Amino acid sequence: DRINHQTLARSIRYVLERSRARSGEWDSPMFRLAQQQLLKAAQVMDLDDNVRQRLLFPQRSQVAALSFRRERYGQVETVFGYRVQHVLTMGPTKGGIRYHPDVDLGEVSALAMWMTWKCALVRLPFGGAKGGVRIDPARFSRTELQRVTRRYTSEFIAMLGPDKDIPAPDLGTDEQIMAWILDTYSQQAGYTVPAVVTGKPVEHFGSLGRKEATGRGLVDVVEAAANHLALDLTKATAVVQGFGNVGRHAAQLLAEAGVRVVGVSDASTGLHDPKGLDLAAVTAWVDDHGLLDGYPDADRLTNAELLELPCDILAPCAIQNQITAANASRICCRILAEGANGPTSLEADEILAERDVFVIPDILCNAGGVTVSYFEWVQGMQNLMWSLDEINRRLRELLVHGFDRMTARAQALGVDNRTAALVEGVERVTRAKLARGLFP
Ligand code: GLU
Repeated sequence: DRINHQTLARSIRYVLERSRARSGEWDSPMFRLAQQQLLKAAQVMDLDDNVRQRLLFPQRSQVAALSFRRERYGQVETVFGYRVQHVLTMGPTKGGIRYHPDVDLGEVSALAMWMTWKCALVRLPFGGAKGGVRIDPARFSRTELQRVTRRYTSEFIAMLGPDKDIPAPDLGTDEQIMAWILDTYSQQAGYTVPAVVTGKPVEHFGSLGRKEATGRGLVDVVEAAANHLALDLTKATAVVQGFGNVGRHAAQLLAEAGVRVVGVSDASTGLHDPKGLDLAAVTAWVDDHGLLDGYPDADRLTNAELLELPCDILAPCAIQNQITAANASRICCRILAEGANGPTSLEADEILAERDVFVIPDILCNAGGVTVSYFEWVQGMQNLMWSLDEINRRLRELLVHGFDRMTARAQALGVDNRTAALVEGVERVTRAKLARGLFP
């Protein structure tokens, strides 16, 4: 039987009110979404009340004011930094650091909670964490970003470490920023600690395949979904929102799998060509000009229009809250592959389910990044190196297992894929919490 959404929504509201979630320091639209998704999964799996209560909030959160000197005139500027560890039961915590002008504690906390379910679903020995700095990296010089990053690392250093909490790139951060984190941490330790951070430059303790990993993982699970739905990818079309580290590799690898990529976008514009875009040319344009804007060989359209293009595979790979009650009924795809974290609202989920869109939820669809981060961490801890073939093979294996577990659950429980994936993750964490008990 399908679950009754109205009853579910009412009981979720009741639990939220009882746990006074709204008055928590973490409260924000995104954190509320993460909590509501958890409560929906809790309902269908009949989760232990005490464990549910313990999972609704992050175990640890730290906020810091990060002051740094501007390069030109020497004045001091202050930005806010966050690090949140959601579950410490599963091993060290793991998750990226985001640099974005809208970052706040609630957003970072939602992302940390999703990291917990992501790692548990794919069976990585990590709990979830996330970090962020409320800053627009485009407005600051390389030197200034280095100062902020080093300050961030040193303010949060007590929380970090290869056995404690391991950062990685996310929106607005890259391998250079990871190298500065490695260096700052290692300066304090007195020796080089490669496993304190992942997503490092390949020539400096990074892992082969990490940069493309999120996009590659997305294509691995799209292939699994196509198999599941008996969809021929060589006859399929795709639209990719976002041309950052996730979107550009996802688009490229979809094309390599035989898919016709008819639309891509970034913050500046969308590009559309029903005959299929020349991705090598688009990528070269972005490398030269920084943005898609001005690319001559395609029609232009807005991000809102792009999301509504008819296609077989729609891959939102930019930011959260893109598919909502306002546009979900006009989304026109067979597979929704969530490369971004939290691109779809709770209301949109219901609309998409009614319209029979096959959703590959973020916690599976973009888990390729943290999976190869795990491989990078393992290599760093052991001072060994895996080949690219080995990394890509293991990545695919872990993600396809996650996909199979999700679809089996969805079938067994009669629920949507997102809820099924969450149940898989939440159940694993629950077993660990119950086995270890509550301290004191
Ligand atoms: N920031 C990425 C994510 O959201 C990767 C995290 C990691 O590699 O630890 O999954």
